[in-house]
Amino acid sequence: MGENRAGRGAAWERTTDAGRRRFCLASCLSGFAAAAAADVTSFLGVMPRWAEGASMGKSFAVTSLVPPVQNGGDDTDEQRIADLVTGNHILFDQGVVDGFGHISARCVKNPTHFWLSQSRAPGMVSKDDIMEFNEDSEAVDARGRSLYGERFIHGEIYRARPDVISVVHSHAPGVIPFGVTGVALRPVIHTAGFLPPVTPIFEIRKVAGEDNGILIASNKLGSGLAKVLGKSSVVLMRGHGDAVVGPSVKVAVYRAIYTQVNAQIQAESLMLGQVMSLNSMESAKVNAINETGGLERVWQIWNARANANLAALKGS
Ligand SMILES: [Zn+2]
Repeated sequence: MGENRAGRGAAWERTTDAGRRRFCLASCLSGFAAAAAADVTSFLGVMPRWAEGASMGKSFAVTSLVPPVQNGGDDTDEQRIADLVTGNHILFDQGVVDGFGHISARCVKNPTHFWLSQSRAPGMVSKDDIMEFNEDSEAVDARGRSLYGERFIHGEIYRARPDVISVVHSHAPGVIPFGVTGVALRPVIHTAGFLPPVTPIFEIRKVAGEDNGILIASNKLGSGLAKVLGKSSVVLMRGHGDAVVGPSVKVAVYRAIYTQVNAQIQAESLMLGQVMSLNSMESAKVNAINETGGLERVWQIWNARANANLAALKGS
């Protein structure tokens, strides 16, 4: 969250509801643990399946029940780069990333490579910042530009998941509680049907030991993260954030935004009582609609609002 954005004050908050959601979540967190405990003990009178798998440090297998949504055959590197720039701006405007966080796209001409900005705040990224990286997450032609320290997240996920076209890494604040409490992130709203029944959590200590720096700063750590992601669309990173993948830049952006929205609504719902999530059939059917026809509609309004807010921010 930059000083400029905070300085926009009320004007900024009128144009995005991300701030409202953050405030609401913060107001709820004081009772989060108690409500989560109530959810664990009272839901249907038994220990839920997700609670068993979500206990910290315990690994569990996750199989995505949502069929992938494919791009059309007319995808080009130029289009992916243009979408990347827009996606950076939207993710900032929606409160998913701030000065940190990044989004990439797999190269069309060389699918083992990917496109990613040089080290720059997502809200400030332009076409000229986008660089090509190889399968080991090294820049093909760095020309002295600084690189994101966690670019290995992207390269190792692309290596492990041939179906993935775009990766978002963020420190989305609404998601963090589900990585540190043992309360599983589950799909509770129709716009988050891409989430698995239990969202996996990457525990960096399992790969790097107790003496680690939390960040994914090597191929070894990126590979460990990709393993925990498995076939899922999202992996949480304990005390850090998440990585979200999709079959296009637009779908990855959509999923990153609604992962945070789902987390915030689930946290608020836990304050009221037991929480029921979507079943696998509900998730798959509604997601197929949202990530095709519905996606373009929200992309247009997100893009328009990001353009307006960023123009105001740069002019201030
Ligand atoms: Zn990070």
